[in-house]
Amino acid sequence: MHHIAIAKGDGIGPEIMDATLHILKSAGAKLDITEVEIGEKVYLRGEKAGIAKETWDVLRHCKAFLKAPITTPQGGGFKSLNVTVRATMGLFANIRPCVSYAPFVKTKYPNMDVVIVRENEEDLYTGIEYRRTDDLYQAFKYITTTGSERIVRYAFAYADAHGRKKVTCFTKDNILKMSDGEFHKVFDSIAKEYPHIQAEHWIVDIGAAKLADAPEAFDVVVLPNLYGDILSDVAAEIAGSVGLAGSANIGTHSAMFEAIHGSAPRRAGQDMANPSGLLLAAIQMLEYLGEGKTANLIENAWLKTLEDGIHTYDIFQQGISQQKVGTKAFAEAVAKRLGQSPNTLKTRPLPKSKINWIPPRPPKETKKELKGVDIAVEWRGSLDELLPLLQPEAPFELKMIGNRGVKMWPHPLPESTTSDEWRVRYIGKNLSQKDLPSLIQKVGEKLRIAHIDPLYTFDGVPGYTLAQDEQ
Ligand code: NAD
Repeated sequence: MHHIAIAKGDGIGPEIMDATLHILKSAGAKLDITEVEIGEKVYLRGEKAGIAKETWDVLRHCKAFLKAPITTPQGGGFKSLNVTVRATMGLFANIRPCVSYAPFVKTKYPNMDVVIVRENEEDLYTGIEYRRTDDLYQAFKYITTTGSERIVRYAFAYADAHGRKKVTCFTKDNILKMSDGEFHKVFDSIAKEYPHIQAEHWIVDIGAAKLADAPEAFDVVVLPNLYGDILSDVAAEIAGSVGLAGSANIGTHSAMFEAIHGSAPRRAGQDMANPSGLLLAAIQMLEYLGEGKTANLIENAWLKTLEDGIHTYDIFQQGISQQKVGTKAFAEAVAKRLGQSPNTLKTRPLPKSKINWIPPRPPKETKKELKGVDIAVEWRGSLDELLPLLQPEAPFELKMIGNRGVKMWPHPLPESTTSDEWRVRYIGKNLSQKDLPSLIQKVGEKLRIAHIDPLYTFDGVPGYTLAQDEQ
């Protein structure tokens, strides 16, 4: 028996969860289930993240969590439950298979079978943001070597276990040379450990266009969090229907499984919703728990139901569908077909082995040398008026003044537009951290400091970007 937690959620959540549980039970899945409450009611009781404190203990002690969609109340400073659960439980990998079921479900791409592997904890999703000046707002994009290694290793291990032939990485490292550049570098280095799997990299903009135009050309795709968030929805939608996709959130100790759609409040309580997204998530859960045979039994029955034209309203097509059914009747039809196999649609093969995944090693320690400091100040006047206020004393010299990443001094370009945040770069020789306070104090006496960034080299390589033509 596997101890799992379930939450019925809001809107159509309870109906699709009951339908899914009915099928799991009928298939004889060995599950010991504890129900927990999350979502709208919990938010409205004053829990800002939509989950009660005692629920965390249940989730921590379960092997898996099957979660129906919830409604996030509008306004009121509520936090996204999904983001909180992912971060708190260390669910670093989001796995979303996006498959076409043509001709039974309408799609432009009948041969699509892509698995999106999205990094789940880093990038812009830490939610760390600052207002620096009247004009400037800034969000932090976090990319770590260990976080990148964790997700890229998982993507290759997943591809290997599932007999997939290719892993594609998308980044924007032509612009984000350090953060996305590191993700790409990690990808290239881990790809070498899997010579039997083809590895390729695309810049995310052209890669996204290609994914939307020719998804058959992709197999497993691994991406940093933001690109993964956007492109996993694109991939699910072009496969046929967002209502048909499930996803797994995998951590080192536990995992959460859910449909990718929301709580569809307008459809709630009408016995209309399609339970397939949550059912496919439950199939991923069974595979994760090592119950591959039960996973296949259910997937076969579900595919046969689609082939027999028993469809809920969202995938109903004149000429293809035989019978329009509600949530309960759909679940009953799947349960009745347990033991049957589809004629044309293919069941996803069970993994050949366990996903053999090695946790990342801590990065190599490097020698850091302080080379200078960037001090960002708020200033609405002209550059000529600002310049005399910035003159440093030894050991520092003024190297560069930039505005929104564009070099303004020396050699300003009069056409450049500016904001009220000016980034001033000071450099010096043989610096130590003790040299910084006097410079900061001197600048701070004349100007409001918005932000301070020490500049280090790591084994001689600058840990900061250079402005154009800066040496
Ligand atoms: P939604 O996915 O709930 O609904 C979008 C459309 O898809 C609606 O027209 C709906 O009728 C249809 N639809 C969705 N699932 C369906 C199903 N299983 N069967 C048939 N039709 C289905 O998106 P939304 O309307 O933007 O969001 C509603 C609520 O869900 C919001 O409160 C949002 O915050 C929440 N939400 C939760 C999750 C989650 O819990 N993981 C994810 C997304 C949105």
